Amino acid sequence: MPMYRPHDDTAHEPHPDPATPTLDGVSATALWTVRMRAHESARDDALFHDPLAAAFLASAADPGAPPGSGPLQQVLPDWLAVRTRFFDDHLLAAARAANRQVVLVGAGLDTRAHRLDWPDDTQVFEVDLPAVHAFKERILAGHTPTARRTPVAADLREDWPGALLAAGFDPARPTAWLCEGLLFYLPPEAVDRLVAAAGELSAPGSTLGAECLNADAADSPFVRPWLDALAGSGTPWVWQLADPEKWWGEHGWHAEAADLLALPYAVERFAPHLAAHPGLETQSMILVTATRPAGGR
Ligand code: SAM
Repeated sequence: MPMYRPHDDTAHEPHPDPATPTLDGVSATALWTVRMRAHESARDDALFHDPLAAAFLASAADPGAPPGSGPLQQVLPDWLAVRTRFFDDHLLAAARAANRQVVLVGAGLDTRAHRLDWPDDTQVFEVDLPAVHAFKERILAGHTPTARRTPVAADLREDWPGALLAAGFDPARPTAWLCEGLLFYLPPEAVDRLVAAAGELSAPGSTLGAECLNADAADSPFVRPWLDALAGSGTPWVWQLADPEKWWGEHGWHAEAADLLALPYAVERFAPHLAAHPGLETQSMILVTATRPAGGR
């Protein structure tokens, strides 16, 4: 299996443009995931192809890397590959069914609006902090998206619904929401507000995908070193949940936690890690998919 080496990424030939804004704080975490997408895209057995990831990485003055070297960190590149492929499939299925309005919440340097084969009339909104958009737009200039794409600069702890509506979001259209690599960075009260607001903006039939940290695994030897490293790096994970289906149900969504070990591509990626770490907690991170019933309950 090709190994991921955070500080020896041969695909990354840096040529930062001094005019490209620097990403710091939580915004810099967008570069962690883009680094792993660039690495994945170069593999012969890639689970997805993100041709723009290497360009983002090369443009960053300091692309950084996820902190620490614990067992979860060793699995992160394969985790990210699996989660990306999982949500690619989920979003495309939602869009092909009916939900041609897509909101990537905390989009970071996600290029799904450029790399997925969307139905013709799909509209993708990308919500993130202004600095992330400033960085991203410089690289995307000249690249044609495969969907209508609208960046929305907003802080998700503030009035992001107002910014989304002002950008043309239509609450009467069923929406596919995605919160990937995001919610654990937000304070619990901000997550509650975000999920409530997304629900209020959701026409019946809307869908949601979310990545969650399982509170029951947070103190395991697999997860704890990662949480400590994040806290030490100034980007702590501060939200987690136990019993995701119940939690999302109480917040108005019919949710299902994915059984990743039923997916052949995930089994293939995780098998070497499970062999190396027999105590590896396979349910520490949970991918949830959900639908919004009429009335939200
Ligand atoms: N979803 C993308 C992905 O999977 O590659 C990005 C994930 S990155 C780990 C987390 C993203 O959440 C960053 O782009 C960061 O700027 C964004 N984010 C975190 N807190 C935010 C906030 N309060 N408002 C807006 N965006 C935020």
